[in-house]
Amino acid sequence: MTAPVTGPEAAPVTGPETAPVTGPDAIGSSSVTAPPAGAASSCRVAAPADTTEASTSSNAAPGLVVVGTGMAGLALARGVRARDPERPITLITADSGDEYAKPLLSSAFTKGQTAADLSTRSALEVAEALDARLRIHTRVDAIDPAARCLHLGAERLPYAQLVLASGAAPYHPFTVSAALADRVFQINDLDDYRRFRAALTRHGPGPARVAIIGAGLVGCEYANDLHAGGHRVTLIAPEATPLARLLPTRLGEVLAAAFARGGITTRLAREVISLEAVSDDAVLTLDDGERLGADVVLIATGLRPRTALADAAGLAVSPAGILTDRYLATSAPGIYALGDVACVDGLGAAEHGVSARYVQPLQASARALAATLTGTPTEVIYGAWPVVAKTPLLPVVALPPAESPAHWRVEGEGEDLAAIADNAAGKVIGFALIGRCVRRKVALARAAPALLG
Ligand SMILES: Cc1cc2nc3c(=O)[nH]c(=O)nc-3n(C[C@H](O)[C@H](O)[C@H](O)COP(=O)(O)OP(=O)(O)OC[C@H]3O[C@@H](n4cnc5c(N)ncnc54)[C@H](O)[C@@H]3O)c2cc1C
Repeated sequence: MTAPVTGPEAAPVTGPETAPVTGPDAIGSSSVTAPPAGAASSCRVAAPADTTEASTSSNAAPGLVVVGTGMAGLALARGVRARDPERPITLITADSGDEYAKPLLSSAFTKGQTAADLSTRSALEVAEALDARLRIHTRVDAIDPAARCLHLGAERLPYAQLVLASGAAPYHPFTVSAALADRVFQINDLDDYRRFRAALTRHGPGPARVAIIGAGLVGCEYANDLHAGGHRVTLIAPEATPLARLLPTRLGEVLAAAFARGGITTRLAREVISLEAVSDDAVLTLDDGERLGADVVLIATGLRPRTALADAAGLAVSPAGILTDRYLATSAPGIYALGDVACVDGLGAAEHGVSARYVQPLQASARALAATLTGTPTEVIYGAWPVVAKTPLLPVVALPPAESPAHWRVEGEGEDLAAIADNAAGKVIGFALIGRCVRRKVALARAAPALLG
């Protein structure tokens, strides 16, 4: 289904005249709006009516505005709608607004899935199901906490409560020349996935040479997935072992060996010095002088919370995200944050501390915040939730310890190993499991401390 897009002359008002409404008796109006065709939303000059968009639709009062329609933003909107059928909800997203499960991006090449296969609902279906207004391909440029409004280009969008669910963006230390634009990628959302698949398709029906830079969770999962999807993968990272933040060295070495045995070429303890276009190849030069040719390059060197909007608005932020308390409240009244953009109660703020940028924490946050926003203040609690890496060549589960362990106990043999982190009192504070030892996940998680108890 295609979302209706307001034409160049149309004011970006999604009232009953311009938008699909869920029926004569519907409370509020569900609709999808994109910026005028051919015009960047940030360049649009607002007519006066634009400044009071909410009052021109049946969602008259400035209600709840959610920035981001990833898993966090949608889970929160669903939770609020389930508790309050009447609250006006507006969702704003820089992307297409189609619903998808991000974790599936890194297991979809094996199954040959397209971006369309991964999209579970169109933006319009999302808006209808939530009885909400959804503004797609629309970027929030600034937050004015004093006036309680958002800047979308020249438009001002008022809010009663604002939820920031704007996620985390890939970052990388390289300069990628324009000549490589169609060969060097990052995959952090469905649109990225679509572009990357198109590049593989352009390359041809045969296997592509794919260089993946970064051997963290995302890099390792894509390496395993693209390899299983029939491509020739080289995994390059400065760390000596893959998944170095999740696995102690001995287990990481076993994973590296499993990757190599499975057919993934590894260049570990190697840094990429430069990336250049040489005829049809992307050529990577490594710090030992080796030059590798690739058809496509996937950069997976980490994600950083998108804190710039909050920072510019004077909200308290840290490199780990927008700072919130246990109620997901930021330092500004009426503004909340959750998902990858948030640093909840300081979790993940330490340089090598645990990260909560996963689905279970954002789901728990969405439940708690939906309750809070509908009149039942609720603190969020995170359990001892291990990370499961989608690396079928060697199953991996890990719960990294939040503090330095007194020691690691390694049990098992061959590829079936359990590394258990104990504190000085002999209590389990984390673990890493590979091979058949992943079966111990539930028992060990019961013994480990909650991430946010
Ligand atoms: C490849 C991959 C595999 C993963 N696998 C797993 C897994 O197996 N298990 C697990 O638990 N977790 C996994 N994760 C992590 C998990 O997917 C994320 O924690 C989660 O999807 C984050 O959701 P989010 O809604 O916070 O952010 P996002 O999904 O990044 O959504 C951010 C939203 O904000 C919008 N936005 C940003 N800036 C603006 C702006 N200025 N104006 C308007 N809109 C804006 C974006 O358009 C988007 O809609 C994986 C992540 C990746 C990348």
